[in-house]
Amino acid sequence: MTMHYELLANRILERAAIHFPNKEIATRVGECTHRYTYAEMFERTSRLGNALRELGVGPGDRVGTFAWNTYRHLEAYFAPATIGAVTHTINIRLAPDDMAYIINHAGDKVLLIDPDLAPLIEAIADRLTSVQHFVILGDSSEMATSLSGALCYETLLAAASPEYRPADVDEYSTMGLCYTSATTGLPKGVAYSHRAVYLHSMTAATADMLAVSERDRIMAIVPMFHANCWGFPYAATMVGASQIFPGVRPDPRVICEMIERERVTISAGVPTIWIGVLDYLQRSGAEYDLSSLRQVVSGGSAVPLAVLQAYRDQLGVEIVHAYGMTEAAPLISVNRRRSWLDDLPDEQRLELNASQGVVAPGIDMKLADENGEDLAWDGEQRGELWFRGPWVADEYVDDERSAETFIDGWYHSGDIATIDANGYIQIVDRVKDMVKSGGEWISSVDLESAIMAHPDVLEAAVIAIPDAQWQERPLACVVARSEASGPLTRDTILDFIRPDFARWWLPDDVVFIDEIPKTSVGKFDKKVLRARFEDHR
Ligand code: ADP
Repeated sequence: MTMHYELLANRILERAAIHFPNKEIATRVGECTHRYTYAEMFERTSRLGNALRELGVGPGDRVGTFAWNTYRHLEAYFAPATIGAVTHTINIRLAPDDMAYIINHAGDKVLLIDPDLAPLIEAIADRLTSVQHFVILGDSSEMATSLSGALCYETLLAAASPEYRPADVDEYSTMGLCYTSATTGLPKGVAYSHRAVYLHSMTAATADMLAVSERDRIMAIVPMFHANCWGFPYAATMVGASQIFPGVRPDPRVICEMIERERVTISAGVPTIWIGVLDYLQRSGAEYDLSSLRQVVSGGSAVPLAVLQAYRDQLGVEIVHAYGMTEAAPLISVNRRRSWLDDLPDEQRLELNASQGVVAPGIDMKLADENGEDLAWDGEQRGELWFRGPWVADEYVDDERSAETFIDGWYHSGDIATIDANGYIQIVDRVKDMVKSGGEWISSVDLESAIMAHPDVLEAAVIAIPDAQWQERPLACVVARSEASGPLTRDTILDFIRPDFARWWLPDDVVFIDEIPKTSVGKFDKKVLRARFEDHR
């Protein structure tokens, strides 16, 4: 037998302190950059653990974070774990009702709050039932808040012992908590064990997954409250990569400047981020040296083929498509080309890159029909993806809705896909976003990707609108580029995609809008669009 060895998230932190004490962590703070090392990060994280203990936080207690991507948030990613407590990353863009709901539902005992976000918590403070301490993530000059008894993070750390005293916990104990972003109904909580985070980090780091190494300088744009920031803070710490944090409200200009100045090698964010960066570069004509970028990881929703192509051809940057969800900590698959597919013609290669890639080692995947029977991996048959594995949730935290999603040991993702003979997943749509026309399904994702290939289109979302004859019909909502070469019309769009689709797939109409509404994590918010165009005929 091998040794009994608990897979604890603390060990990720310890490893960075032992092997990479001098590696850098840089955070944008206004016009300046805060820099320190893993050695300092380790000491401050130890202090934070002790400070939380002094505030009465013990094993199993929840510590909420309400913050941008910064070094202090990184400390909060680890400190609760070292004392057996739980980091609950709260989405700062949720509606106030949802925010209050998840803080109360999680039972957060302490909230760690970025100074400029304090007003959002102040507005719901009287509805919070479990919070005993509000801690402002700043120094004594940043304490302008009406939150009662608010404590200062830097003062707490300065007063706390720097001694590292990890709690003795079981690898199956909870260390992380994240709620889905509530596209329908109330947010649902997902708990992560130490073991899940440890194994997820090891797998994420491997070359066919996120491929992070000590040599990398990693800047995640995906918020630290969105699905564990896709695992980057943990994986980067494990391998000793330099971490770059974009701080408060990073916009496309900030992202480009940081990539250039910090020589970022890996960045990550949802497609709307990368669409925005490209649009900014094209509109402003600004030039940045992005040559340090080895890869941009994009996921959270399908990456349009045109975006992949533009990054490759115009910027010389490879976009790597990743797929996952809060329920899977979040990584399910990453798109890397298999060696035997190297000779594919260019067009097919690009199409392959636009798929969601191949499932991670450690994750079991099933393509199921409506009766739960296996469908063939032939690139044709469409079914729902089910998953199980060491970092896949087996329930929502204290939530009756668990029974609809976690069934007989499988997580039912609600994602409709095909899988080809090489194991590449192609997401067709989310079940709730498909358009059901005359009993047949139309994929909104396919239509959107085709429309977004038009050079004058910035963004496009396709939604179902009610139809008396067909039950539902597709409607395309399109945002034209500001510098479009001519007026965009319904017919320009439909003529452009006509060759690629059966006639009954073509949207009944095209509406032009100023902006596609986004969810709290930056995805197209189709719920809002459906409500807006409910009566469109
Ligand atoms: P939320 O549910 O709060 O939007 P998640 O990030 O957990 O946040 O959402 C996961 C879902 O996002 C997946 O089930 C899938 O529908 C979609 N998704 C994630 N990554 C991709 C991708 N690369 N391509 C297409 N859809 C994706």
